[in-house]
Amino acid sequence: MSVSFHIDASIGGARKGRLVTPHAELQTPVFMPVGTVASVKAVPQDTLEELGAQIILGNTYHLYLRPGVEIVRRMGGLHGFMSWPRAILTDSGGFQVFSLSQLRKVNEEGVTFRSHLDGSSHVFTPESAMAAQIALGADIVMAFDECTEYPADRERMRASMEMTARWAARSKKYFEEHQWDVPWSHVSDLEFQVSSGTAPRNPRPEARNRTAERRSAQPPGAAVPRNPESTQSLFGIVQGGMDRELRRESAERTVAIGFPGYAIGGLSVGEPRELTREIVESTLEHLPKDQPRYLMGVGTPEEIVEYAGLGIDMMDCVLPTRAARHGLLFTSEGKISIKQARHAQDSGPPDPKCRCRVCQRYSRAYLRHLYASNEVLAQVLNTIHNLAFYLDTMQRVRHSISLGEKTRFLAEVWSQPKA
Ligand SMILES: [Zn+2]
Repeated sequence: MSVSFHIDASIGGARKGRLVTPHAELQTPVFMPVGTVASVKAVPQDTLEELGAQIILGNTYHLYLRPGVEIVRRMGGLHGFMSWPRAILTDSGGFQVFSLSQLRKVNEEGVTFRSHLDGSSHVFTPESAMAAQIALGADIVMAFDECTEYPADRERMRASMEMTARWAARSKKYFEEHQWDVPWSHVSDLEFQVSSGTAPRNPRPEARNRTAERRSAQPPGAAVPRNPESTQSLFGIVQGGMDRELRRESAERTVAIGFPGYAIGGLSVGEPRELTREIVESTLEHLPKDQPRYLMGVGTPEEIVEYAGLGIDMMDCVLPTRAARHGLLFTSEGKISIKQARHAQDSGPPDPKCRCRVCQRYSRAYLRHLYASNEVLAQVLNTIHNLAFYLDTMQRVRHSISLGEKTRFLAEVWSQPKA
């Protein structure tokens, strides 16, 4: 009882679907804003809802170090802690351990690492990474993997891929034994009620039907009443470096273990974009067509359209939020740097085709002034626009797929000049 996935329309490899999670039904392909430490930087949760964010991503590594998963668990998991009623996905912590922490040591058991915050020593194993993600309580959680560095030789890529496969099996075993420990689960509710003497004999037997009725009337991604029998879903991750054959083997081994969805990890780690595309395309051939497929950590607006066109259903990237904080805006006219002097007297909106609240209200001149003055509002407004642009781009991709017109797909969704 976790996620279910339904494909409503497709063109070539691209598909428009619905991913039903415990907290929300997502329209796919979906872009997931990154909320690293239980915060999409500079944007409050009500604004994310208004922008149409259906699901956000949290980083287990960061939340494990601060504030610590036990605090989040006691607050009802991330949903309760950050007051976000829609869907959440957490990564396994593997990528951040490999990219941020110091003095890491990897062996069969797991990874010993030092915190980038205070140098304290910690261990992530597949089991402890799953325990952390269960306590955080996201709708979708990820198997603990090793992100292979780039470049790497074939021997190294193979050893790393095989470790990820063994860790995937351990992640699944631990998850299946402990999934009812999730802070919002029916069973953990009942255990609490039994221990406190308040357990009802038959807890909310009508809830499932009510859930189905309410879902049909909601906007995309809106929170729905949760089925009391639902729990988290664990997705597997395909690794294998930049080697197509190792990627095929990784996909087959991960599918053999069996997950309700699959991610392609270990890309956008410094390799050329053509190689990313080649690996994505070849890996997709070995993943089940009727299950959700998640490409981790990409990309530019052009890339998310391109990957959706190949048949990717879920994507996340820090680019729209991080670029915004550096004064870079994605627009229908290409990428612009708002700090440039040429915007100083420009009374026009950041993007004349954008319907977001920033473009409806403020000028490029004002945004440039805020950025030059180092005002906090610059980060807020730039980020809201960039997220609106990404989410709107994905909305147009979904619309285009539902129209079923291949020729219009890439032409209209991404007709803007390349930045
Ligand atoms: Zn805008």
